[in-house]
Amino acid sequence: MLTGKYKILYEQLSKSIGKNRIFHDPLYTLAYGTDASFYRLIPRLVIIANDETEVSLILKECSVQSIPVTFRAAGTSLSGQAISDSVLLIAGSNWKKFTINEDGTEISLQPGLTGGRVNTLLAAYGRKIGPDPASINAAMIGGIAANNASGMCCGTAQNSYKTIAGMRIVLADGTVLDTRDESNRNSFRESHPKFISDIDCLAKSAAINDSLVEKIRKKYRMKNTTGYSLNALIDFTDPFDIIDHLMIGSEGTLGFIASINYKTVVEHPFKASSLMIFPDIESACKAVTLLKATPVSAVELIDRAGLRSVENEKGVPEFLKQLNNNACALLVETVGDKKTEINRNIEIIVKSIENIAVVRAVIFTDIPSEYELLWKIRKGLFPSVGAMRKTGTTVIIEDIAFPVNYLAGATIDLQNILKKHRYDEAVIFGHALEGNLHFVFTQDFNIQKEVDRYADLMSDVSDLVVNKYNGSLKAEHGTGRNMAPFVEMEWGKDAYNLMKEIKEIFDPLNILNPGVILNPDNEIHLKNLKPIPAATEKTDKCTECGFCESSCVSAGLTLSPRQRIVIHREIISLRKSGREPHIAASLAKSFKYVGNETCATDGLCAVACPVKIDTGKLIKSLRSDEVSKSRNKALWIARNMSLIISTARIVLSTVSFFHTILGTNIMLSISGGLRKISGNRIPMWNSFMPGGSKIIKQKNEEASANIKKVVYFPSCINRSLGVSKDYDKEIQLTEKMVQLLNKGRYSVTYPENLNNLCCGMAFSSKGYSEAGEKKSVELENALLKASMNGKYPVLCDMSPCLFTMRENMKSDLKLYEPVEFITEFLLPNLTIKPLDEVITVFAVCSMKKMELDGKLEDLARICAREVIVPKTNCCGFAGDRGFSFPELNKHGLKNLKDQLPASVKNGYSTSRTCEIGLGMNSGVSYKSIVYLVDKVSRTKNR
Ligand SMILES: Cc1cc2nc3c(=O)[nH]c(=O)nc-3n(C[C@H](O)[C@H](O)[C@H](O)COP(=O)(O)OP(=O)(O)OC[C@H]3O[C@@H](n4cnc5c(N)ncnc54)[C@H](O)[C@@H]3O)c2cc1C
Ligand code: SF4
Ligand code: SF4
Repeated sequence: MLTGKYKILYEQLSKSIGKNRIFHDPLYTLAYGTDASFYRLIPRLVIIANDETEVSLILKECSVQSIPVTFRAAGTSLSGQAISDSVLLIAGSNWKKFTINEDGTEISLQPGLTGGRVNTLLAAYGRKIGPDPASINAAMIGGIAANNASGMCCGTAQNSYKTIAGMRIVLADGTVLDTRDESNRNSFRESHPKFISDIDCLAKSAAINDSLVEKIRKKYRMKNTTGYSLNALIDFTDPFDIIDHLMIGSEGTLGFIASINYKTVVEHPFKASSLMIFPDIESACKAVTLLKATPVSAVELIDRAGLRSVENEKGVPEFLKQLNNNACALLVETVGDKKTEINRNIEIIVKSIENIAVVRAVIFTDIPSEYELLWKIRKGLFPSVGAMRKTGTTVIIEDIAFPVNYLAGATIDLQNILKKHRYDEAVIFGHALEGNLHFVFTQDFNIQKEVDRYADLMSDVSDLVVNKYNGSLKAEHGTGRNMAPFVEMEWGKDAYNLMKEIKEIFDPLNILNPGVILNPDNEIHLKNLKPIPAATEKTDKCTECGFCESSCVSAGLTLSPRQRIVIHREIISLRKSGREPHIAASLAKSFKYVGNETCATDGLCAVACPVKIDTGKLIKSLRSDEVSKSRNKALWIARNMSLIISTARIVLSTVSFFHTILGTNIMLSISGGLRKISGNRIPMWNSFMPGGSKIIKQKNEEASANIKKVVYFPSCINRSLGVSKDYDKEIQLTEKMVQLLNKGRYSVTYPENLNNLCCGMAFSSKGYSEAGEKKSVELENALLKASMNGKYPVLCDMSPCLFTMRENMKSDLKLYEPVEFITEFLLPNLTIKPLDEVITVFAVCSMKKMELDGKLEDLARICAREVIVPKTNCCGFAGDRGFSFPELNKHGLKNLKDQLPASVKNGYSTSRTCEIGLGMNSGVSYKSIVYLVDKVSRTKNR
């Protein structure tokens, strides 16, 4: 319930910003309140800001009311800098515009683009952005710049501080400053003379303090994100350059980054990597100092515990298991523009460490699949520890740096401190070239004794880093609340005072993310610790990192996977404890729609999740609990599939008949009205809706010397849905499929009792797992019989059904979906004359999960002059959910139409229901890829 100044703020803002983008209810404030750190604050208001004018307005109104504001990009921060107990301003999905200069050397970005997406855009120019956090596919530009995030390769030479080329900032008073625009700079000088002269004075006072200058230079020879970027004061004299560089690493405490220009860096086409194994940390660290002088682009240290945490993962070399307890690895990379350059580099690198003992001979690989696997394993170290933790505990990653010459001694000291505080399972790894070490451990924050143990550890670590080695306490993850109590300890009084003055100049009312970076509370790092209560095995390993959010179709419409898990954890925790039953009930009520009904259960979240959590499975299990009473109804339907499909055919044909007579507009208005009256229980009709299909004439064809045999299983969807108006006289898919198979020299056999068969997905996705399993077993038996126990391949015409079959069926069936079957078996027998047309393809989520999206594109490129592949996740049609919750489909495809040129009239995919939604949301006619291949092919002469 909003009161006082928050109520006034809400009323003021809701005059200009839609109420649907301002949240203050328990569910959404908790859902958005969560970031990847081990802290939690619940915001009073969450506001999704769509543009700069809105941000400016929010900041002005918050200034008037003295209300703190925290900015949020992807919420993957680890130090507690992206959370708020006041106003949380989200600038993500609507902030994705960019421009690239002609040769790709500079890029202008809005803050909501993920780093991974930006690098995809730059790949065509052979370039990338400098900053390379391991979280790059989830982290957004706003957060990357505001945290000065970095990773394995960028070091201190290519981070945001070094590669920024100007910025557009909304300041605390709502003023917009564009440092890239001279006229804007001039008007800012006039409107804010004190701001400019204060920055000038501050820089001058820093520059004449020799010992401070020396300290700043020394600190930034290492990676350092503790406190503000004080190097801005001594590296630059122009106040706007200073402002730009102070904004880097300012963690939302100095202003809002509305857009930023980066100078891009070269992405070298040739790479090679080696996993070098040394007998102990000392020899590994000695090697690091030697490697620093060679052409290496990255050197990652992984201690024995780190190697152990990944030794059972797929593709990890077997020899890791046999290493002794002191062994230590360096994962080394070298890059170049030519293969010869790489070979030369390798020679230099190997020679440089020839006098250092190694456990195994140093071998480099330049095979992409091999070296990518090594780096994937390295990137997965933190999540791997997270996945192994005890339920109910938190995983913590610390991020310190030492001058690289002291790395060996410092690492051993760190190991001793961890032992002293009984963090025996802790894993150490890091960017050795920069002296940057991460140590990861699990922590129980439910007991005070454990909180004290953590406090003691942090006290010893800060003493080691600062007093013994003059290192940095946060190398790349930002100060946040976690390191705020130690900023003065690391930097000393003079520097700390400068930081306070910087904050005063930019944010005199202290409304921007107060308590982050500078915090007078010496124990703030031990407060507001986030509970991670046990809820269900399906999601207990979730670290709330947020990596899954950008691949979720419902994120932004309702909840993301991380938010579903957070709310579900809270409901279970409240129910178990008996605390606040009314809140538990209210959360559960709201969760029904936003958590359950609008989840597509497509499981794409598991693809992005470092610990492979499929939140869709959590939702399916909740659906299963819900529908337990109608279990018998589902079993009856499962037994009578044939009758249900016949009825569906009649209904669809009737509706299609009325469409022909009444026309699209009248049909839309009638169906919309009926849906409204029924309280959205009657499915939404659209003009891409098909009529009923014709019954399949199941004639098993003969094979011969030249004609091979395939078992064709037409899915129940394609046995029900026929062609739609946009198909323009085409025959239905089940007939088209046979036509193409015959053309490709295959004869068709159908499984027995076809009319009753189904893969079971239609049942299990709604929670009817028993009926789903029954159908799956029935189908498997029928396919085994028809294929003579797997002798003949089995083809299913819908990739989601095929995916379900592959997941459930454990026998030796050779199962194929259309793209795989066509590519592998039919193309060799076909002559293709590509269409002189621009077409588009859409890989549905099952294709993405089976990593067949590339194959779909390749096949389409064989069949048409030009193929457009829009950037989307799941389409959100979710089986038949798109009929009942069309908003999910609309949200999933909101950017589709804009990505398709007007010349595109035909689209191709592999799922009939998804194709309906794709057509509806783009105006393009989507059909199975089978139609395209059939159109452009003829049987090859032997
Ligand atoms: C598993 C894992 C691995 C990670 N690996 C790395 C790594 O290798 N290196 C690394 O540096 N970090 C790493 N991180 C931390 C984090 O991902 C990065 O710091 C990332 O850059 C944060 O980006 P974000 O979009 O999530 O920002 P958020 O967390 O949303 O925000 C980060 C900060 O920026 C501020 N902010 C957000 N948007 C704006 C804006 N438009 N204007 C001004 N301020 C803004 C916020 O207030 C906050 O203080 C990792 C995190 C996880 C969970
Ligand atoms: S299954 Fe799909 S819709 Fe559901 S949480 Fe995962 S990605 Fe989102
Ligand atoms: S589900 Fe996986 S990706 Fe998503 S927040 Fe949890 S751990 Fe991270």
